[in-house]
Amino acid sequence: MLYISTRGGCSAVSSAEAILRGIAPGGGLFVPAEDVTFTQKDFLDLIDMTYQDRALHILKKFLTDFSTKSIEQCVQQAYATEKFDTTMIAPLTTVTDKLAVLELWHGPTCAFKDMALQLLPHLLVQSAKVMGDKYKYAILVATSGDTGKAALEGFKDVANTKILVFYPNEGVSEIQKYQMITQEGSNVGVVAIEGNFDDAQSGVKRVFTNGEFQEELAALGYKLSSANSINWGRLVPQIVYYISAYLDLVRFGKIKYGEEINFIVPTGNFGNILAGYYAQKMGLPIHKLICASNENNVLTDFIHTGIYNRNRHFYKTISPSMDILISSNLERLLYHLSGRNSSQVKQWMEDLQHNGLYKVDQDTMKRIKQLFWADFSTDPETLARIKDVFTKHKYVIDTHTAVAWDVYAKYYNQTKDQRMSVIVSTASPFKFNASVVKALFGLEALENKSEFDLLEFLAAKGNLPIPNGLKNLKQKEIKHSKVCIKEDMIEVVKDFLA
Ligand SMILES: *Cc1c(COP(=O)(O)O)cnc(C)c1O
Repeated sequence: MLYISTRGGCSAVSSAEAILRGIAPGGGLFVPAEDVTFTQKDFLDLIDMTYQDRALHILKKFLTDFSTKSIEQCVQQAYATEKFDTTMIAPLTTVTDKLAVLELWHGPTCAFKDMALQLLPHLLVQSAKVMGDKYKYAILVATSGDTGKAALEGFKDVANTKILVFYPNEGVSEIQKYQMITQEGSNVGVVAIEGNFDDAQSGVKRVFTNGEFQEELAALGYKLSSANSINWGRLVPQIVYYISAYLDLVRFGKIKYGEEINFIVPTGNFGNILAGYYAQKMGLPIHKLICASNENNVLTDFIHTGIYNRNRHFYKTISPSMDILISSNLERLLYHLSGRNSSQVKQWMEDLQHNGLYKVDQDTMKRIKQLFWADFSTDPETLARIKDVFTKHKYVIDTHTAVAWDVYAKYYNQTKDQRMSVIVSTASPFKFNASVVKALFGLEALENKSEFDLLEFLAAKGNLPIPNGLKNLKQKEIKHSKVCIKEDMIEVVKDFLA
């Protein structure tokens, strides 16, 4: 299987090269050059397998230049049972006979980013081996909180890699900060940047575009890489859980094989839901992929009108991981649904860059509407939904999951669709505990409580265990206390790698 760019203009590369490069020359994204399909038998053969074995068989079809043995090693290390708090890895909870929840937050950092970031480091190292590349990889990440921690946990102690995370000194929550500054591992670094997230991000970008510095690093035996969500190595692991969830529904007797179901996905950068699209393309019986947004509803408008317009107010919401106005992975969907029309995609992306806006043609729009449905939820609706779900089902959900649940309610009201539907749950409620406690017990419940107190409070009131990754954080040894200004970032990276 070879990979080509959504914007054309570069020759096809192997999956190893696509993963090592991250982004295609000219700014496009790598996509499989041919469609990967499974027969009914291929799917059903996976039904009695563990999550890890399902992953192996699915990944093999996309990473044809990797040996089976090496994919197996990657998968076993990524989804090891000491890293996830359930052997199911991505367990399905049924709520009613029409509704189930796919919990993607049982990994070390309690959010769905672990599903991909646990595997990506191993795929990256393996890709370097496949390519006969002798360099070590230095991963630089600027984070507004969650991705940095998930990347640290993924790369921790992975041979031939080092990871350095910059977080804004003003701008991450106490818990997020403690998660990072107590990070263990022999190859990790965490540094606070004086400033906000944009300062951290623009600083990291400057390091990446400094050619002279890259040469210096090469002399030290290092290449720079990022772990961002447009890398094919982050997308491909996510295909697995859509298929796995479907097979679990069949295995538990909730549906018969062949019955179409819906997935409702809380969406930001469009990576998660795009993996669902690839699963559907492989032949998984999916009726609708329901794209749920918060008030930053640029995708809702796009799926309704065919016009993508980022020129709008940016809202800070209680589902911050979806506060995004440019959904980068949408480019891959447009490539496929325009009939692999790379010159058209290139034009749209140029329109977006220059005017903040593009409009897709009728045929592409028709295909989008066949498979996708979209709506959004405001913060008050999200809070009300958390309360309602707890009241009705005794089930505590986080704010991102609540956006999806609320959009599902809107979908059901409008369509009365009786098909089985799966809400994709992207974070543990403990991760966004202040909003969850406020939704369930009112604003008063937050008074005089630190974020750490709120963990205990939610555990007691919700009768839930605090996840391992968040427990005893305050007692852990602080291992990273460096603070720098963004002008000094290159020096900091040099020191870290020397
Ligand atoms: C990243 C994230 C999302 C958005 O996922 P995309 O792949 O960017 O669409 C949703 N919920 C949570 C909790 C996340 O961390």
